[in-house]
Amino acid sequence: MAGFPGRVLYAVKACAEPEVLRLLVSAGIRHFDCASLPEVETVKKVCPTATCYFMVPVWLRGEARAAQQELGVRHFMVDHESGVQRLESEINMQRSVVFARMAVHHEAALHDLSVRFGAPVETMPALIETIHASGAEPALAFNVGTMVIRPEAYRYAIGIAKTLLNRLPLKIRLADIGGGFPRSYPQFEVPPLSSYFEEITSAVAQLPLASGGEVLTEPGRMLAAPGVSAISEVLQRKGDRLYINDGMHGVFWELRYKGHDQYACRVYRKGQLLEGKMQAFTIYGPTCDSGDELPGKVQLPTDICPGDHLEFGGLGAYSLTGRTNFNGRYSDHLVTIDSLDQFPPGHIRYNT
Ligand SMILES: *Cc1c(COP(=O)(O)O)cnc(C)c1O
Repeated sequence: MAGFPGRVLYAVKACAEPEVLRLLVSAGIRHFDCASLPEVETVKKVCPTATCYFMVPVWLRGEARAAQQELGVRHFMVDHESGVQRLESEINMQRSVVFARMAVHHEAALHDLSVRFGAPVETMPALIETIHASGAEPALAFNVGTMVIRPEAYRYAIGIAKTLLNRLPLKIRLADIGGGFPRSYPQFEVPPLSSYFEEITSAVAQLPLASGGEVLTEPGRMLAAPGVSAISEVLQRKGDRLYINDGMHGVFWELRYKGHDQYACRVYRKGQLLEGKMQAFTIYGPTCDSGDELPGKVQLPTDICPGDHLEFGGLGAYSLTGRTNFNGRYSDHLVTIDSLDQFPPGHIRYNT
């Protein structure tokens, strides 16, 4: 929030746990990028004064109406002319800001979000005009992707936005540059956040916004990742293979995508950190699916045995939100650590 030249929204889908939302609120986050009515409801329960943005171009019938009438949402999103008509049938356009989502693609985004969502750049002027004609305030949004591993992707996307805004007959007040800031994971180093903010700060200074204009960002991973660890138990060991009670259908589901292939990990035995000689292990989850194997080998103490506990750190983003109860396994025991005093120095925080 200190480094970004504008308004910071938290993208709720990265981690929607009320306790995590509460911590973000206590750190000063008051704006939330929601993609469904249940996400808005979750945020409003934690922080009734929060501003929720309904930033999804596809929604269940009636959700936009309920978001506005029952929860006071004013910000919506479309990426097609038909979305404006659907909005008109549900909300009061005069009281709303409607973001037109533009598709942008850059190769530095490990996951391209422009395939499913976003209007082609050449259709944007007409879409913005339709929003304007509906009585709503038009705004601009785009998202380079998630896990954007090079800062210049933002300069590139903001450059396209600048060309578009210069061609418009009207001035836009709000420009949302999306989220996508990456985190470092073991063997997966990314540039520091400050290098992203440098690119963004100089690029957005060129955007021809209306007076009082503001730039928005909606990070999920960057805010959620560091605050959560997953604890699992070793159930069985076969040589250099470990079977644990969480896996690819649980909190590690994101490892099936391109990007990092492991999380920082350490071992506890009866509550004490287990150290000593290390070796590489393959880790399997507890389900019957042959794909329930964590992709990256993990260095762990040679001595590890059933009953030991593994702590995987930096796992706050895209872990709890995607777990399933496949095979009847579901990790739902959540504990909040609100004092670090009882932990030896260095035993609680990861550097990533
Ligand atoms: C997923 C998503 C985000 C958050 O992405 P991160 O990579 O977690 O920052 C932001 N905006 C939109 C539109 C998204 O779909």
